[in-house]
Amino acid sequence: MSTLPDSPTHATARGFFPSALHIKTLETEKREACQLASNRKVVLFGQLFRYSNHPSIPISHIDPARRPHYLSPMAIRPILTAPDPRLREVSKPVDAVTDEVRTLMNDMLETMYAAPGIGLAAIQVGVPLRIIVMDLAEKDEDPDPHYFINPVILDPSEDVAPYEEGCLSVPEFYEEIERPARCVIEFLDYDGNPQRLEAEGLLATCIQHEMDHLEGVLFIDHLSRLKRDRILKKLKKEQLATAS
Ligand SMILES: [Zn+2]
Repeated sequence: MSTLPDSPTHATARGFFPSALHIKTLETEKREACQLASNRKVVLFGQLFRYSNHPSIPISHIDPARRPHYLSPMAIRPILTAPDPRLREVSKPVDAVTDEVRTLMNDMLETMYAAPGIGLAAIQVGVPLRIIVMDLAEKDEDPDPHYFINPVILDPSEDVAPYEEGCLSVPEFYEEIERPARCVIEFLDYDGNPQRLEAEGLLATCIQHEMDHLEGVLFIDHLSRLKRDRILKKLKKEQLATAS
């Protein structure tokens, strides 16, 4: 079983972005405490992969991401959950990487760490823009946030790799999904500079899961209709029960 799902919790608990951490809300503190107290068997992220052989992730191929914009306080935003129709929207390209976009990415990262998760697409916080944040650092590693703006996947490999995926927008459900084992990603980074990255292992799976969100696709759409409908029905039922 991978220990990766613990990473975001760890990162948040240990403290990251020293300047911004102070604004962490009480709610975040509480959630962290609960998470740390739990057996941490899972966590998701925008996806969570409870197991994998976790091949080495070529994170070194990623240009060092800049630290978030310290001047903008980060905020935790509500995460949409299926079957919210907004999750089915196709996200639009970002025209320019402005401070407003960076503020959104900072918020997304804070939201993802608090959830906790290891990846999040903007549409999951209700913003239909082609933006993804991710941090696949292991719990004994320094936080390693990455930002993908207008990402494009090229050259997906023919061989596939299975991972048990989860999603912050499909809470409490995990299913094994097969996706191309390797791919190339082209995107703009935090500063709006074009980047190209060769991905394999968890990074390849995670970026493909997040890219699906940009097209309004959820990981459960890769399951049989029967299985997907069963999950959506349960989620709907839980939401109705919570609302009443
Ligand atoms: Zn997801």
